[in-house]
Amino acid sequence: MRDDARFMEVALRHAAGAASKGQTPCGAVVLDRDGRMIGEGHNTVRADRDPSSHGEVVAIRDAWRRVGDPAILKGGTLYSTIEPCLACSFFITQLGFHRVVFAARGTDVPTHKPLLGADLSAVAAWANAHADWTPLEVVGDFMRERSLELIAAFPWESRGATASGRDAAPRKK
Ligand SMILES: [Zn+2]
Repeated sequence: MRDDARFMEVALRHAAGAASKGQTPCGAVVLDRDGRMIGEGHNTVRADRDPSSHGEVVAIRDAWRRVGDPAILKGGTLYSTIEPCLACSFFITQLGFHRVVFAARGTDVPTHKPLLGADLSAVAAWANAHADWTPLEVVGDFMRERSLELIAAFPWESRGATASGRDAAPRKK
């Protein structure tokens, strides 16, 4: 029995912490191949003025700095409160993570605008069809409601981050 709920709780706590500081409510946790938690964090794009500081990347950086060797990430597991985007999916496959568990779907985010229409699920299907890529298991919708609460409470529009005409769309209450 895996401790998915325990680790997703940690990721959700980071997501809530991010939101309280005006950062996108996305938290993430990294386990090594033996199931030890070695990285954690949340989105810091605005604080860092760095478009690559997605929650997943912040947690991966934390893990890499703690263990000093990216090889320890191979075969590891990543938890994210929101489905990893295409950029994070690239890093996940490059580093050889074998399992990703996410809560909310990318499409649950009001500003969602997937490059090439792809996200982690599409990336995993592609990787699993190619023998030279590490097989990737994806578990979605895990504790999704908890992440949806954080997403619903976050003032996405006031960030000026949307240009997709979604402003006119009714908000979920
Ligand atoms: Zn991302």
